[in-house]
Amino acid sequence: MHSRIHSIQCIIPPHMLDNVQEKGSEAQKGRMRQIIEASNQIREERTGLMAAAAVMPRAQADGKERVVYDVQQGTSLPGRRVRGEGDPATGDAAVDEAYDGAGETYDLYNDVYERKSIDGSAMRLDSTVHFRQGYDNAFWNGRQMVYGDGDEDLPEGDRLFNRFTIAIDIIGHELTHGVVQFTAALEYRNQSGALNESFADVFGSLVKQRALDQTADQADWIIGAGLFTSRVNGQGIRSMKAPGTAYDDPVLGTDSQPGHMDDFVNTTQDNGGVHINSGIPNHAFYVVSRELGGFAWEKAGRIWYAALTHPSLTAQAEFQKVADLTQEVAGDLFGRGSLEQQAVHTGWKEVGIQTEAVEPDDGGGGDGGGRPGCALGALTGILAPLVGPRRRATA
Ligand SMILES: [Zn+2]
Repeated sequence: MHSRIHSIQCIIPPHMLDNVQEKGSEAQKGRMRQIIEASNQIREERTGLMAAAAVMPRAQADGKERVVYDVQQGTSLPGRRVRGEGDPATGDAAVDEAYDGAGETYDLYNDVYERKSIDGSAMRLDSTVHFRQGYDNAFWNGRQMVYGDGDEDLPEGDRLFNRFTIAIDIIGHELTHGVVQFTAALEYRNQSGALNESFADVFGSLVKQRALDQTADQADWIIGAGLFTSRVNGQGIRSMKAPGTAYDDPVLGTDSQPGHMDDFVNTTQDNGGVHINSGIPNHAFYVVSRELGGFAWEKAGRIWYAALTHPSLTAQAEFQKVADLTQEVAGDLFGRGSLEQQAVHTGWKEVGIQTEAVEPDDGGGGDGGGRPGCALGALTGILAPLVGPRRRATA
C-alpha cells in the first residue's frame, strides 16, 4: 500500500515512508502507519487553511516576532505558548531550535532580500513543537510551522529519525513554503510542484549556509543533515550538489533524485515527483553558486529570490520558465553578459535546460557606456549594503 500524502508540504517524501513501511521493523512499520494516517488528517485541515490563508487575518508583528508553542504530543494547534520573542532559552532543544531557526530564516529574508517576514508584511512566525507522539515529519500548514519529535520515543535500535528541528535547513525549507504560498504560489504537482520544493530547498540551504557563515565551497549542500540517526546509511534527505546520492539504506531505500533532464522521472507518485525532480533545479542552483563562489545568498540567492517574486512567475510555471526568468533577472541585477548572467546560463545548461545564449560582457566600450550592465554599477551600489556583514545570531 502506498501512502497518499498529496498536498501537504512535508519535508519527508512519501516514497521514503513507503520504503520504511515495506522494509522496516515492526515498530518502524507501525510508526509509518501512524504517520500516513496523521498526514491524511492534516491534509484535509490544510486544504481548508491554504484556501483561507490569503484572506485570513494573520498575527502581525512589529519587526521580528517569534512564538513557539508546545502541543505536548497532542494535535490541537497551536498548543501552549512556551517562548516568545526575546525570551531566554527554555532548555527544551526542540523549542529553542524552532525559535533560532525561525530567527535565522527571518534574518535571511529581511537582511538580504528586504522581505518583511514570510508574507512580506510582517507576519508573526509561529511554530509548534512536540506534535503528536513520534511524528516523523515537519510541515507548514498554511499559517504556521509544525514539527514532530521523530523516533525519539522508539527503542534505540528502531530509530531512524531525530527530532525535526535538529536541521536548520528544514526549518528554512518549511518556512519558504510559506514564502512561495504568498508569492508565486506554485502549484504543488508536477514541474511547478518540483519548483516549489526546489525553492524551499534553495532558501533552506541558504539559511543554513548563512547561519554557519559558509561559502558555496564550504557548504555541504545536503538537505536535512543530522536528521537521520546513526542507524541510517545517509547524509541527509537530498543533495543539491549530487542529486541521487544523499542516502542508500536498506530501510529508507535509495535517493531517487535526478540531477539532469535526461533522467527526469515521470511518475504519478509524490504528486508527480515533486520531491524527486526538484533535484534538477536544485542542482542548477548549486552550479550557479559554485560558478560564482563566495556566499551563495548574495548573488545566486538574490537572483533566485528575484525570480520567485517576479510578477511573471505563475502558479503553473515549469522548469524552462524559471531558467529563462533567472537568466533575465540576473541580467537586470548584474548586467547583460555579466559573469552572474553567464553563471545562470551554465547552471541550467549543466542540468540539460537551454536558455538564450549569453554574450560575454568583454568590457569593450570604455567605461561600459551604453550597456545595460552599466546601470548595474549603480544598482549594485544600492544593493550592496543589504549583503553587508553577517549579523551573528545570539544564543
Ligand atoms: Zn517541502
